[in-house]
Amino acid sequence: MPEWIDLRSDTVTKPTLEMRRAMAEAEVGDDVYGEDPTVNRLEQRAAEIFQREAALFVPTGSMGNLICIRIHCDHGNEVICESRGHIFNFEMASMSAIAGCVARPVETTDGVLTWKHIEPAIRPKVYYRAQTGLISLENTHNIAGGRVLPTAVQDEICDRAHDRGIPVHLDAARIFNAATYLGKSVADITRKVDSLMFCLSKGLGAPVGSMVVGSRAFIEKARVFRKMFGGGMRQVGVLAAAGLVALEKHPPLLARDHAKARRLAEALAEIPDMRLQPNDVQTNILVFDVPGTGMSAPELSAKLKERGVLANAVDPKQMRMVTHYDVSEEEIERAIRAAQEIFAAARKN
Ligand SMILES: *Cc1c(COP(=O)(O)O)cnc(C)c1O
Repeated sequence: MPEWIDLRSDTVTKPTLEMRRAMAEAEVGDDVYGEDPTVNRLEQRAAEIFQREAALFVPTGSMGNLICIRIHCDHGNEVICESRGHIFNFEMASMSAIAGCVARPVETTDGVLTWKHIEPAIRPKVYYRAQTGLISLENTHNIAGGRVLPTAVQDEICDRAHDRGIPVHLDAARIFNAATYLGKSVADITRKVDSLMFCLSKGLGAPVGSMVVGSRAFIEKARVFRKMFGGGMRQVGVLAAAGLVALEKHPPLLARDHAKARRLAEALAEIPDMRLQPNDVQTNILVFDVPGTGMSAPELSAKLKERGVLANAVDPKQMRMVTHYDVSEEEIERAIRAAQEIFAAARKN
């Protein structure tokens, strides 16, 4: 098997030896009966770390987001989200197919939704218009290049939404990356949202799993919908054990992923006509335009693959690269050299 340098996503991280050992040794029970001690410990630790009442282990982030939307909204409600957001683009329209809601996507240039963007999208409270049931934010914003939502912006949205009686959900898939960038705790940067979902399976490195975090009453409802959506799992402590290692040990490792992303961005930005601002790269994701280089993003993706580097096009013009613990500094240098060679060869033709 070739040794790929895999920059497609931080989901490709494989469980560490420590995770595998913890999985092998995990104490388990039937979690549908609430009897899996490892799951219970993971849920308790997640609640403590976020300084909330309760948390729930769910198989995927998509299911976690869907559960939250289903709880917050009635059928026929609108969900305001950023137009490139995960819940709108990558969750199979589950909010409409299953939760009976319509997405109300709002465009921004940098992925940072502010109250200024949101307020005009809120429906007036009259019986003959669909009602805004939820505002859903994304921190960090994946397709906006791992962008961090400033806490003041997020808090203002929460305050004003709550004044209008509208709840706020946070798709916090990569919230530990945001906390690393801001130098604050995840609790401090999520205090005002009504619910959140974060992923153990991204940069934190667990093989499977996400957590929904909120009040005790909210998590009780979440447990019902998890079962209804087919997510009631049995001796799942084997997965929660890996999740516990991810949650306790891996957040401090994310700074290194950010440094690798920064190095990659700085080197790629030196390629002529590449539209990439290294200062825009705040966390572990780079999304950049390639049109100036005369190559489409899928072409660049194919040429990188010939050189052992995997990275996906977001659309015809934009590439995404994601750093994580399974790609070393040395491999980042090799990826940079591959990109430099591809563009040098393209310029000669
Ligand atoms: C990965 C991700 C999710 C959840 O994805 P799953 O593959 O369903 O676990 C949700 N939101 C964002 C922003 C993500 O990047």
